[in-house]
Amino acid sequence: MIIRIAHLYPDMLNLYGDRGNIIALTQRLKARSIDVLVDQITMGKSFNADDYDILFIGGGQDFEQDVLLDDLKRGKDVQISKAINNGAAMLAICGGYQMLGKYYKTYDGKMLDYIGAIDFYTEGREERMIGNYAFKTKEGIEVVGFENHSGRTYLGDGVEPLGKVIKGFGNNGEDSTEGVRYNNTFGTYSHGPILPKNPQLADLLISKAIENRYGKCELEPLDDSLEEKARAQVMKLYIK
Ligand code: GLN
Repeated sequence: MIIRIAHLYPDMLNLYGDRGNIIALTQRLKARSIDVLVDQITMGKSFNADDYDILFIGGGQDFEQDVLLDDLKRGKDVQISKAINNGAAMLAICGGYQMLGKYYKTYDGKMLDYIGAIDFYTEGREERMIGNYAFKTKEGIEVVGFENHSGRTYLGDGVEPLGKVIKGFGNNGEDSTEGVRYNNTFGTYSHGPILPKNPQLADLLISKAIENRYGKCELEPLDDSLEEKARAQVMKLYIK
């Protein structure tokens, strides 16, 4: 079995070590004797959604998000929407997450029209939302992370969040929602990176990717004692 990962804009969208998510996915797949292929999809390089099982986009600043817009509109937007609708697993962080929605209006009034693959929009404000935070998914996974964003994201009616905020701001600091979940796509504000610190979430994403390509999947458990210790420490120090 092989799982193919597309890492979108690895050189442009990589805040707070977001690339660590690729390392966590790769290691957890290899530990189960599943082959992994990672392709770096940079600006100017086209890609075909059908070739990948997992798509990953990290976070960036308003500047990079603006610079990428033209490249996104030259076909990557269509392929990303296709992957989402075909049920590929996808993880999008902060600025990358904002790019999946309809638009991002920056705090200084610049309008960035995005893919609109999922019904939500983001509007920036001068005051940023920064700090360690946590949220809980519908499976009961308590995810710890770090957020730093000016954008406030508002989900459309009936659009499911990735989780409910336990502590921190999440999507907008108002409605206790964090991130988005649509088909097998997860959008989140969590940098840090999120997957090494939250192995259960990493495995959820991996199992969605395997199920979508190969059918039912039972992941062999791994020894996550060190990861769980780190997560518990973050919880103790910053959250509960
Ligand atoms: N530029 C976006 C914002 O500030 C995203 C920031 C990020 O990816 N950390 O809302």
